[in-house]
Amino acid sequence: MENDGNQYLLLTPGPLSTSRTVREAMLKDWCTWDDEYNKGIVEVIRKQLVELATEADGYTCVLMQGSGTASVEATIGSVIPRDGKLLVINNGTYGERIGQIAHYLNISHHIVDLGEVEQPDVDALAAILAQDTTITHVAMVHCETTTGMLNPIESVCKLAKLHNKVMILDAMSSFGGIPLDMAELDIDFMISSANKCIQGVPGFGFILAKQAELDKCSGRARSLSLDLYDQWRCMEKNHGKWRFTSPTHTVRAFHQAIRELLEEGGVAKRFERYSTNQRILVAGMERLGFKCLLDKSLHSPIITSFYSPTHPDYEFKQFYNLLKDKGFVIYPGKVSNADCFRIGNIGDVHNADMYRLIKAIEDSMYWLNDDEKQPATLQQESGL
Ligand SMILES: *Cc1c(COP(=O)(O)O)cnc(C)c1O
Repeated sequence: MENDGNQYLLLTPGPLSTSRTVREAMLKDWCTWDDEYNKGIVEVIRKQLVELATEADGYTCVLMQGSGTASVEATIGSVIPRDGKLLVINNGTYGERIGQIAHYLNISHHIVDLGEVEQPDVDALAAILAQDTTITHVAMVHCETTTGMLNPIESVCKLAKLHNKVMILDAMSSFGGIPLDMAELDIDFMISSANKCIQGVPGFGFILAKQAELDKCSGRARSLSLDLYDQWRCMEKNHGKWRFTSPTHTVRAFHQAIRELLEEGGVAKRFERYSTNQRILVAGMERLGFKCLLDKSLHSPIITSFYSPTHPDYEFKQFYNLLKDKGFVIYPGKVSNADCFRIGNIGDVHNADMYRLIKAIEDSMYWLNDDEKQPATLQQESGL
């Protein structure tokens, strides 16, 4: 019961733990062209997503079938013209993936490779933009889920605009969990998916777009099913109709998930919960002797990477299984040059779950003798 009908909590960056009510919303079949679905759900969601992204006018939302990557690919493949060039800022797997997409689609691009623990340097980017005037678009990841790093979007977006570039932001793991106003930052295209901070189930992604920029994208797509402009036009013309079969149950669950986000108090409140989750996690883990991969100033409240213990008896799989038996699923590391594991703070996961997690981790440190362990679960110490 503690996990709301689930066997364990997913402390992963998506799919993540959803509420029972979100899952229950799927217990009904929906017709993809009926008004009850199109006007009653799809159009409502599109409008709500725009409202979550900005208070300004002039923005629209396109929903796209598939995992989050499909929406990134739809965007990259549909907005850059044949004579355009993309600057990709890469400091992790998801930045790297944008470069791979450009490569697959034969889009001219320049990758700024920063490794996995470096943030972009605005002066260095400015030099590239000044030197290569053929660049038309800039793409970056907001929260790099590989490490949990939060990238400096304000300064990069400002720079892109100073040089008149179209700005594309992969806000997959941050949208709905970290407050931001797309118009204030002057972001042209922003991408996220159903199964991250909105706390829906997987099956589709969405693209928030500046209408004036999207209007230029007719005929640019390099893929039929991932044609962002055509998907938008169909949804617009037919009041919420998707071009091809839509993931109706997932969309219905998402509608419920947005309702729950608003009931919680919106993005600001959710950000607060995730941030507190993360503070409890890091304080508890540090007391147990674990060390964070990133400096605190670089952390997002979304996911945290910890160095694996160096004890010869430690093995991730065994640690993982012990924790799973206790009701928590953690995530392997993804950093190539450091041995890490990751723990997510997003989803239907609350402060009390984090305290339970720390206790479970303490009880799962099988590689230490009792007298080597440090007491960890003094909740009052963290002051939270
Ligand atoms: C989850 C995620 C994606 C998309 O991943 P999918 O597995 O395709 O859903 C893209 N970028 C970031 C930053 C992510 O966290």
